[in-house]
Amino acid sequence: MEILGIDIGGSGIKGAPVDITEGVFTRERYRVVTPQPSTPENMAKAVSEIVEFFSWKGLIGIGFPSLISNGVVLSAANIDRSWIGQPAAEIFQEVTRCPVEVLNDADAAGYAEMRFGNVYNNEELVLFLTVGTGIGSALFYNGMLIPNTELGHLELKGKDAELYCSDAVRKRKNLSRMEWGGRFNVYLLHLERLFSPQLIILGGGSSKKFDKFKDAFTLKTPIKPASLQNNAGIIGAAVFAYEKQKNFSL
Ligand code: BGC
Repeated sequence: MEILGIDIGGSGIKGAPVDITEGVFTRERYRVVTPQPSTPENMAKAVSEIVEFFSWKGLIGIGFPSLISNGVVLSAANIDRSWIGQPAAEIFQEVTRCPVEVLNDADAAGYAEMRFGNVYNNEELVLFLTVGTGIGSALFYNGMLIPNTELGHLELKGKDAELYCSDAVRKRKNLSRMEWGGRFNVYLLHLERLFSPQLIILGGGSSKKFDKFKDAFTLKTPIKPASLQNNAGIIGAAVFAYEKQKNFSL
């Protein structure tokens, strides 16, 4: 069975039809640039461009970079503030004329990694982090997602953690990978103290460079780079949409 997965990020919006049994793309992914300003109207147009590219008619799962409750946007750290309070699922449904399920982008990526990746090994509590423009988090207890944890906004050094050690900060401050790793280590130690997870999985673009900063980490918790990397957000959104609809029809 195929579902169209879409991952909305700070710089790009990517989509591909996903075989939800195998967790793989059935066609090459298509990317459009995230419009600026990233208002509901502009984002809806960008999403419909992806849907039209695949001539898609059917269920769509969308990973969205904010707190999502019942398809409604509750926060806007890295998107236009006019999103707050907007029914994202309804908006995308209207413009695409397809059924749509929306969830947080990090929850989507974590969901795919837990299901199809080769890093998770039945640990009780797993913390998945994705580092890009912001820092996203997904928490799993015995494999079950606890949604909307938003741990990128924990306070660290008097500000939001993502304003101290996201990948955007590394670029803006021109930090070396090890310098950035030192900052991220402060964040990881804080998370370790608060949650005592058995495993931390690092996703997002920077996880590809894991070897370049891993020696900066001093935490005791095992930390591993995600195995699905860039495709996880798209795959997780598609699988989540399928499972949500299936549960509703039980
Ligand atoms: C947002 C999260 C999102 C993360 C990664 C944060 O700024 O608050 O909802 O998961 O960025 O995109």
